Amino acid sequence: MSRYAVVTLGFTRPVYAHELRPGDVFVFPDAPSTALIVADIEESVLSPELALLTLTLHGRTEPMHLPANTPIRPLRMVRTVSMTCLLCHKDQEAELDLPRDGEPLSLVCADHVPEADEDANPGPGEEIE
Ligand SMILES: [Zn+2]
Repeated sequence: MSRYAVVTLGFTRPVYAHELRPGDVFVFPDAPSTALIVADIEESVLSPELALLTLTLHGRTEPMHLPANTPIRPLRMVRTVSMTCLLCHKDQEAELDLPRDGEPLSLVCADHVPEADEDANPGPGEEIE
């Protein structure tokens, strides 16, 4: 895996149910102790204003139906983002767990990250001042 450094912002924006993908873990704000794991998600657009989601959850037999704009609180949302290196403009893909790592802001690719001990290797998403 190539090494790179990503500068991130805190992941504080509102997140809605339609952003979920299989493998994501989330809670509803009114039930923060019940972590739900997405197995599958399907969106049905009923009108320009209304889309409904059918969420299949690990450990639940009944799928959950909810409006696509339902606010949720993500616990784990791993996304591969394609970014352009700040210094040489080379494209680089970075994998981030958004709630933990934050929202990607900028990236420098491995060409500018000095070789270092494995232990000192800042993983993707660690904040760089
Ligand atoms: Zn670069």
